[in-house]
Amino acid sequence: MPANDEARQKRADELYRIRHSTAHIMATAILEMFPDASLAIGPPIKDGFYYDFDLPRPISTDDFDEIESRMKNIVKDNQRFEHETWSKDEAREFFADQPFKLELIDRIEDPDVSIYKNGPFTDLCAGPHVRYTKKCKHFKLLKVAGAYWKGDENEPMLQRIYGTAWKTRDDLDRHLHMLEEAKRRDHRKLGKELELFGFDRLSPGSIFWRPKGWICYRQLKEYFRELEEQNRYIEIFNPLLYNKELYETSNRWDHYREHTFQFEQNEQTYCLKPMNCPDTMLFFSTKKRSYRELPLRVAEFDVLHRNELAGALSGATRVRQFMQDDAHIFCAEEQIYDEVVTLMAMIDETYQMLGLHYDLELSTRPDDFMGDVELWDSAEEMLEKALEDRGEPFRIHEGDGAFYGPKIDIQLRDSLGRSWQCGTIQLDFQMPRRFELTYTASDNSEQTPVVIHRAIAGSLERFFAILVEHFAGAFPTWLAPVQAVVIPITDEENDYAWEVGNMFRDAGIRVEVDDRTEKMGYKIREHETAKVPYMLVVGGREVEAGTVSVRIYSGGRRGTMKPAEVRDEIVEKVAERALDVEVEETVLTSATVEEDEVGSDMEERGY
Ligand SMILES: [Zn+2]
Ligand SMILES: [Zn+2]
Repeated sequence: MPANDEARQKRADELYRIRHSTAHIMATAILEMFPDASLAIGPPIKDGFYYDFDLPRPISTDDFDEIESRMKNIVKDNQRFEHETWSKDEAREFFADQPFKLELIDRIEDPDVSIYKNGPFTDLCAGPHVRYTKKCKHFKLLKVAGAYWKGDENEPMLQRIYGTAWKTRDDLDRHLHMLEEAKRRDHRKLGKELELFGFDRLSPGSIFWRPKGWICYRQLKEYFRELEEQNRYIEIFNPLLYNKELYETSNRWDHYREHTFQFEQNEQTYCLKPMNCPDTMLFFSTKKRSYRELPLRVAEFDVLHRNELAGALSGATRVRQFMQDDAHIFCAEEQIYDEVVTLMAMIDETYQMLGLHYDLELSTRPDDFMGDVELWDSAEEMLEKALEDRGEPFRIHEGDGAFYGPKIDIQLRDSLGRSWQCGTIQLDFQMPRRFELTYTASDNSEQTPVVIHRAIAGSLERFFAILVEHFAGAFPTWLAPVQAVVIPITDEENDYAWEVGNMFRDAGIRVEVDDRTEKMGYKIREHETAKVPYMLVVGGREVEAGTVSVRIYSGGRRGTMKPAEVRDEIVEKVAERALDVEVEETVLTSATVEEDEVGSDMEERGY
């Protein structure tokens, strides 16, 4: 291992130990406050830790001061973490009144169990830990949430207290700042404040678009449609409802069954479509195809439904009804390279336009792959070459591809440094066979096309939610629901304000005229809160001179301008889809371990 990696590894391990140890310190404090508490598990997670407790009363954030001050005393006390190995019988005796620990002991396969002690606290624990509690000075408790024991709804509901812990005060402060920023930018909060979208219990997990949000959504969709037209895609529009048979033919049914809404009607089982792939295969098979038609690029913006568990729903980032910028490319084997190069150019154009950073990751043949090894090899070679030719670093996940083909995933990094899996370029050698698709090759033989499933944004709902947070609600002018507002200072200027407004509207600009008899300061603040890109104030002087006084959301005062000049500027920005806002970056953490992954890993290990 190179020295650098080793040092990095060591630092990472140290954070892991600090976080794990801070979880024990919190449990020590909780036992001081509630000697009868039952303890479940307390692992380190990304950026921090949690511990699950069964307590005599509900904990709230009001309790955090007391827990934290007890934790600080334990840190000051500088207790030593000591490791011991006990027989299971010893452990069972010690944890006799700790039912969850007893269950964990039973799940451990070794004859002995590992124990860590600090001060008065003893835990069943694989470690590792720091040596002294004074290493854990920089922590903060963040929230408390319900969590079922073993993640199982039939088991008792426990209280999970989350905290964050870092090596230095600076790291902690920076992380807390990032959390504040994330809260400020939260798309659920901004979605409500900016009247973009909402939710209703009568259709749980699906978005109710308000007029302003719907404008943004349509702009996004329109962009993708244009991009596809430029790249010679054709678009189809298929039904929402299918006989289950379609999905059984696709060979993905096992995977999608539990996430698909189904119902019985006329003694048939119908499904709300969870994906576009199978019905696009039907389109290909509607007539005899020739190699001259390939690559055939078929786009589809249909509504999809997935029956996500209520607990998994999260604002607009995970919803039950959504739409993708989805397309399927039918091509010959030797066309894969060119198609992938074109797709990467489309991805680049899109992400650059929005000021988003992204990484590409290649996933290759898994053990349970299906199909012809030679086809796999040559396809993987083409994908890798396309990635290499791009000249940017990329990651390879060996053996992580789907059984039906290798893929390139787009990992997007937002302005808070969080990582999202958005678009994908997924090769498929199986689905065209399942649907018996063929085309006539130049030598008159019948060949099976390769299918490329591809999306640049993925779910548009989720992509939009990411954009709301990325821009903190201050969209570039082309995407903003209201692009300009004209504000007369007194009634005297109303006619002129409307004249300017109508002139903008005629140019296709989304403009409002705010002629309410409110105070000027109030009106300006309101439009600032709404993050309107252009504010045009008109008073007597402006009417006289035939000008407007311009304020830009992202750039402050611009002075007086002729209305036609402002109009042309906006029209030009919209045509170019200019990125005319500053994207502030608060990149902090790069690790992307999901807390649930760590949690279940810990549980599997029996700790
Ligand atoms: Zn532990
Ligand atoms: Zn597909």
